[in-house]
Amino acid sequence: MPEEPEFTVTPYEVKGKIDYERLRELFGTQSIGPELLERLERAAGGPLPPSLRRGIYYSHRDLGWVLDEFGKHHPFFLYSGRGPSGPLHTSHLVPFELCQWFQERFHVPMYIQITDDEKFWFRPKLTREETARWGMENLLDILAVGFDPKNTRVMFDTRSIRAMYPLAVEVAKKIPYSTAKAVFGFPPSTNIGLVFYTALQTVPCFYPSWESGRSVPCLIPCGIDQDPHFRVTRDIAEGLGYSKPALLHSQMLPGLLGERVMSTMGDTKDNALFLNDPPKDVEKKIRNAFTGGRSTVEEQRRLGAVPEVCSVWALWRSKFAPTDAEFDGITRDCRSGALLCGECKARLIPKVHAFYSEHAARREKAKEYAESLIVVDAKRSPTAPSAG
Ligand code: SF4
Repeated sequence: MPEEPEFTVTPYEVKGKIDYERLRELFGTQSIGPELLERLERAAGGPLPPSLRRGIYYSHRDLGWVLDEFGKHHPFFLYSGRGPSGPLHTSHLVPFELCQWFQERFHVPMYIQITDDEKFWFRPKLTREETARWGMENLLDILAVGFDPKNTRVMFDTRSIRAMYPLAVEVAKKIPYSTAKAVFGFPPSTNIGLVFYTALQTVPCFYPSWESGRSVPCLIPCGIDQDPHFRVTRDIAEGLGYSKPALLHSQMLPGLLGERVMSTMGDTKDNALFLNDPPKDVEKKIRNAFTGGRSTVEEQRRLGAVPEVCSVWALWRSKFAPTDAEFDGITRDCRSGALLCGECKARLIPKVHAFYSEHAARREKAKEYAESLIVVDAKRSPTAPSAG
């Protein structure tokens, strides 16, 4: 009998030291091999971003099919979302940065879902006004990643519900309660809002198909912890007359305090670089960050450090060393002991400050158009016949 994994990964809980290959096998997804990466690079007509080159995105469902369809002039659209319960931190941007790369290279539409309803239902202490306010704040940070406003639409659940609801009722009818309960492990005390949310999270995956009356492939970059949501979506897709959404799964970046995932939960303010942190806090958090260094300088020079367990290395890997020459140099010098952790952190801090100030400028600009991207009415009559 296979051993029980020593970790838990669901959309609502990530616990333990994750073995990502084991998780991929448990979830039944495909690994992203070099051939698929080369194919993607050829289709994109330019180099892959660090998150793909360095294996942060390591698993997928049907990416090859999306590329097949694209080759037949049947383009896809992108979908990612955010449950707003507080400020975003840098690792929250990982899926959006990949979406932005896809949008720029493939000129495809981006759908952003802001699930202010879900976070209100899920977090007992949050009010509806707070989740809506965080929804707008988070949306500005997401748009600051650089999406093309002319090719981007936002489904803000409590504000876009008039457009979403006709499709949501069709989706909800296809999902038995037993499926939602089995996938998400809802205890009897779960409020019925959270149960219905399973249908709402599915809506953007089919929305362009539903609105246009023809099946449009959907590609969803997300953390692998979100895969269970989309397994439900994939199970019902064909019954509704749509294609199954394809997925690209990332590993979760470690928190600054060690192996825990960067999180907005509980007492973890020092565990992540929040996008609203002032520069002095950013610097302090990096200086205090957990590393793979040794206990003395002499030992580190002699034995080298261990980048794979280091939260600072994870930041270099994700985006702060955009060229492979720089990233490979840091990794090599870390392993050999030529680079000490203090020097490494001091080198990283100005790069993170530069990112924050560029991000703030783009965020300011996004205030001019964010409202106009929120979907209010569907571009089709709710009484038009559905595809399925
Ligand atoms: Fe981490 Fe840098 Fe120290 Fe290596 S040298 S363990 S990458 S802080």
